[in-house]
Amino acid sequence: MGVTYRRIVLKLSGEALMGDLQYGIDPEIVQNIAQEVANIVASGVQVAIVVGGGNIFRGIKGAAAGMDRATADYIGMIATVMNSMTLQDALERNGVPTRVQTAIAMQEVAEPYIRRRAIRHLEKGRVVIFGGGSGNPFFTTDTTAALRAAEIGADVLFKATKVDGVYDSDPRSNPNARRYNTLTYGHVLTQDLRVMDSTAISLCKDNNIPIIVFDLSVPGNISRAVMGEQIGTLVGGSCEVS
Ligand code: UDP
Repeated sequence: MGVTYRRIVLKLSGEALMGDLQYGIDPEIVQNIAQEVANIVASGVQVAIVVGGGNIFRGIKGAAAGMDRATADYIGMIATVMNSMTLQDALERNGVPTRVQTAIAMQEVAEPYIRRRAIRHLEKGRVVIFGGGSGNPFFTTDTTAALRAAEIGADVLFKATKVDGVYDSDPRSNPNARRYNTLTYGHVLTQDLRVMDSTAISLCKDNNIPIIVFDLSVPGNISRAVMGEQIGTLVGGSCEVS
C-alpha cells in the first residue's frame, strides 16, 4: 500500500484495551490492535506506541480519594507498563518484533528509555512501545506521546480514540454538532476542545507534529490513516468542518 507517513507514534488509551469491560484488558481487542499494527509494519511503516493506563489506574482518581498525587501518578505510570507488556506479547504473537522501553527503570522486564536506541529499533523494523509515561508525575500519556513523537522525529501522532473525530460540541447531546475535518492547534487550545491535554497540544504545535484523531474501533482505520485517507480529524491544518 502507498503509505503517507514513514514514522508514526500511535497513542492508545488504556481504555482502548478494555473494550466493553469495566476494568482491565480484553484479549480480543488487544489481538485486533496487534493485527492492525502488524499490517502497517509489514508495509514498511516505523511504529512507536505510547499506551495509557486508565483501564487500570488513574493518578487523579487516587488523589481524589485522598492519596498523595505524585504517588498515585507513579502507580498510574506503572499501570502503563502492564499494558505495554500485554501489547508486546500480542504483537510478537503476530510476528512483529517489539521492544518495550520504560521511563521508570524496570530492567528485568523492559529496556530503559534510550532515545537513540529507540530510533535504531524503529529503523530495524521493530515496534517500540514506550511504557511508564514520561516518568514524571503530573503529566499524562498524551503528553508523553507528543514528547516522544518530537524526540524520535515522528511524521505524525495518531490519537486513537472511541470517537470518530473532533466536534464543535458534544455530538451525544447536540444533534447539530459538526465534526472538523481539519483544525488548528490554536483552535483546540482556545476552544478547550477535548482532543488531548493542553501540554500535549502545545508540544505538537511547537514542533509542527500533526495529530490525527480517529476511531480505533473501526477495523482498518490505522491503515487508512497511514495511507493518508481523510478519516477523523487532522489537527495541524486550517479549520474546516465536514
Ligand atoms: N502518568 C503520569 N505521568 C506521565 C504519564 C502518566 O503521572 O507522564 C500517570 C497519571 O496518573 C495517569 C496515569 O499515569 O492518570 C495513566 O495515564 P493516562 O491517564 O494518560 O492514561 P489513558 O487516559 O491514556 O488511559
